[in-house]
Amino acid sequence: MILGIDLGTTHSAVGVVDSGFPILLADEEGKRIIPSAVWYGDGGVVEVGRKALRRRETDPMRVVTSVKRWMGVGRIDDPVLNAVGKTPEEVSADILRELKRIAEWRLETEVKQAVVTVPAYFNDSQRAATKRAAELAGLEVVRILNEPTAAALAYGLDKMKERSRVAVYDLGGGTFDLSILEMQEGVFQVLATHGDTRLGGDDVDQMIACFLLEGLGELSAEMQMRFLEEAEKAKRLLSEEESYIVRIPFYDGSSSFEKTITRNELNVMTREWISKTLKCSQQAMLDSGLRNTDLDAVVLVGGSTRMPAVRTAVAEFFEKNVDVTQHPDEAIALGATIQAGVLSGAMSKMVLLDVTPLSLGIETFGGLMNVLIPRNTTIPCKAGEMFTNAADGQRKMRVRVLQGEREMARDNWELGNFDVEMESAPKGQARVGVQFKIDADGILEVLARDTATGKDVVVKIENSAVNVDDAAVEEMVGKSVEFAFEDMAERIFTEAKMKADELLPAVEMILEQGFVEDIERAEIEVAVSKVKSTMAMGNANALKAAVKTLDEATEAAAARLVERAMEEALEREMRI
Ligand code: AMP
Repeated sequence: MILGIDLGTTHSAVGVVDSGFPILLADEEGKRIIPSAVWYGDGGVVEVGRKALRRRETDPMRVVTSVKRWMGVGRIDDPVLNAVGKTPEEVSADILRELKRIAEWRLETEVKQAVVTVPAYFNDSQRAATKRAAELAGLEVVRILNEPTAAALAYGLDKMKERSRVAVYDLGGGTFDLSILEMQEGVFQVLATHGDTRLGGDDVDQMIACFLLEGLGELSAEMQMRFLEEAEKAKRLLSEEESYIVRIPFYDGSSSFEKTITRNELNVMTREWISKTLKCSQQAMLDSGLRNTDLDAVVLVGGSTRMPAVRTAVAEFFEKNVDVTQHPDEAIALGATIQAGVLSGAMSKMVLLDVTPLSLGIETFGGLMNVLIPRNTTIPCKAGEMFTNAADGQRKMRVRVLQGEREMARDNWELGNFDVEMESAPKGQARVGVQFKIDADGILEVLARDTATGKDVVVKIENSAVNVDDAAVEEMVGKSVEFAFEDMAERIFTEAKMKADELLPAVEMILEQGFVEDIERAEIEVAVSKVKSTMAMGNANALKAAVKTLDEATEAAAARLVERAMEEALEREMRI
């Protein structure tokens, strides 16, 4: 069983496919959506969700909210997070642990795997941080899914006609993004995405609170918080009613507060705020190169799209009726659940690949796999690395393009190979750049360039890097886990052996040319024979250790060799 999880900035939810239907799981209070808030009490006590949020009024410095903003970013600037002494990953893990607990309680069984959604604009480190958070919570992430893709799934857009394009307008509590997706044969690709990580319904709460507080004197922090809560409540009600009366009894200890706010007033207040989202939308449309008429659907997700003014503005902007058939705050979790159901086989099969199913790389020295694009990278993507020559005067380098999770090239699949001509250079001096590029259609193009000649070889790999049979992917991943220990030992051995092959002749030269002092000689000779014997035995860690010992034993002699070489060079120069 695989869970579908929406790990949101303000709210989170978890679901599972049950008897062929995706459902979201409710907690003990019957709620399917839980606030992404965590309270850290004394003695390691942790509370998540509504309970945590309720404590904000009395214990604000211990309630972490909106932690998603800090996931995978270097510099964290959140006083509460610092005060509780937790990393964003640890806080997210606490939220995920609570979702896992709710699911296990509802399903009465242990669950270990999940599909987790992230914004389309999340980079590798933000995605990796999300995965690590799940691991901390005891969940293996079988797929990271883009939120707009999840929303499109919830709306059933994967069943649309061939090659359809949709815009997903996602306005939540703290973030906004607009993504343009293209669906082809059941495969979604993100064509463009644009957003603002500091724009959401929270801003409207602030605006309403300011409106309410106008003309009132200084208030305590607690009372300000109370006004903010009333503001949010007013906002929600104004999505249904034309006006609302905010009442706060004895707000300053003696008198009571009462003020009417109308939907019209709210519309005026939020006009500028809504137009910011439309500017982002315009940028995403420009990036995608599409016109409004190219879009087959516009879907709204995120709680703030319940606001009538937002709906009208978006419909006007795209010149289209907007699709609001799903609960806007449940669509992403539902889509994640559908994807989880497909992956676990609990729902009818559809292909949904906007990520690389397996790692892609090339073979390097010693028959090792060198990964350029890791498994589960969102496509389109691009990555490159510099390689060098293994032998003096080597005139060409063979690039073997590999796919798979194993450490040794021979255990992975070869997708293709080609040669790059290189200028003659001493061993280790040539520089050949290899770049992998996967376009939105999943086609892999490999570019190789000897920096000395600047000449490019570009090869399109015919074997699909993305469309791999699910069973084959599963088998490959399964084997990489099964043989993880052996594979790692072989990689360590190969790397150590390459080092030894380089070191042994060099040490011999040092010994012969008299750079070694007598007291060092015995130690070096012991180290040399240790390297040779461990190499013959094939023991990876022992060889690695022996190579290190030899390296250290010859350090002083090697330094003398370098010193001598420099002196000679200097002398030569003086003579000239
Ligand atoms: P999300 O991050 O998608 O869960 O969205 C949460 C945001 O939606 C919060 O700012 C809520 O105040 C807002 N929201 C929820 N329901 C409504 C509603 N009926 N009208 C306006 N805003 C709402």
